Amino acid sequence: MLVVKKFGGTSVANKERIYNVAKRCIEEYKKGNQVVVVLSAMGDTTDELLEKAFEINPRASKRELDMLLTTGEQVSVALMAMAINGMGVPAVSLNAFQVMMYSTSAYGNSRFKRVDTDRIRHELESGKIVIVTGFQAVNKYDDYTTLGRGGSDTTAVALASVLHADKCEIYTDVDGVYTADPRVVKNARKLNEVTYDEMLELASHGAKVLHNRSVEMAKKYGVPLVVRSSLNDHEGTIVKEVAKMEKMLITGVAGEKDVVRVSVIGIDDKPGIAFKIFNTLAKNKINVDIILQSIGRDGTKDISFTVAQGDLTGTLEVLGANKEALTIQEVKYKTDVAKISIVGAGMMSNPGVAARMFEALYNSGININMISTSEIRITVLIAENEMDRALNAVHEEFRLGME
Ligand code: ASP
Ligand code: MG
Repeated sequence: MLVVKKFGGTSVANKERIYNVAKRCIEEYKKGNQVVVVLSAMGDTTDELLEKAFEINPRASKRELDMLLTTGEQVSVALMAMAINGMGVPAVSLNAFQVMMYSTSAYGNSRFKRVDTDRIRHELESGKIVIVTGFQAVNKYDDYTTLGRGGSDTTAVALASVLHADKCEIYTDVDGVYTADPRVVKNARKLNEVTYDEMLELASHGAKVLHNRSVEMAKKYGVPLVVRSSLNDHEGTIVKEVAKMEKMLITGVAGEKDVVRVSVIGIDDKPGIAFKIFNTLAKNKINVDIILQSIGRDGTKDISFTVAQGDLTGTLEVLGANKEALTIQEVKYKTDVAKISIVGAGMMSNPGVAARMFEALYNSGININMISTSEIRITVLIAENEMDRALNAVHEEFRLGME
């Protein structure tokens, strides 16, 4: 059997944790399996490197940032190989250049294009545990790129896919995927199974447990994932195409504070204006989430939308530079907002789910700012300081803490 195991930053944060992971990998190896290990940078290394960069030059180029950030993963894989070797088992560490993991050219947020298997296969066949850097890839200029924060999950899924692995296990510091963030919602419960689509919605709307692109890729290539703890032997959560009906309407709730509401005021109420605004943003690689358009009056209207915090400056610059062409009279924004989402395949065939969510928020005196939905998700924008209360209220309303 070929097994891909990915360990996050907290799982390799110090010497004891590294030894712990080394032992788990050796256990798998001693069962006669081929073991490929993907690692994140130790603990908060990536954040610390970003701080260092900011101190030196707050406008550092994305290329140099990637050059810096990729060192974090290189440290953990080398130390892990040393730890495993020290326990008497052959192991080798490899980075993106050595494996040949190619990505698109976009620094800071690249996507895999091609991942070679020759080197890994060769090392596995010579009896080694193979330890690969997560989060990094190489672009057509032979430069390092990174896959976006949390991207090591995607490295693991990509390797599991090209190597046709029998198992892909994502080890983290919690027992699996929960109905809500257990630090915020006290009676949040671990899910035994969740579908790719539900997981994708949760991961894209604030659940930090898996990188959303890793779920997208797992779905596309049919790689079943297991999310489990590196600190115990509990079973974890299986992410796959169809989950057993847990007889639940809603699978989980997620909150996201990293969001800003932007409003463009007084634009012409005529065909093509919305197209121009969002096309201009898209061309500048700004991702827009919830959109709300007001009813026109006196030939003008307003449009509000949300973007990630990090895209605010870019959004304001782009809108400002195109003010006349886009017929904008004024741009306003609000940063102290948050999104909460409920997700569940069960809501597709059950009317009234949205009403129940809104009622729960109303009963808690929480005002809804904007709403967006997909077939299996409802998202509302609320005040940031009400997010935790809102998550608890909705979690309670759908009784997600109950078995
Ligand atoms: N070390 C990177 C980060 O902190 C990638 C990862 O952990 O998945 O975002
Ligand atoms: Mg992660």
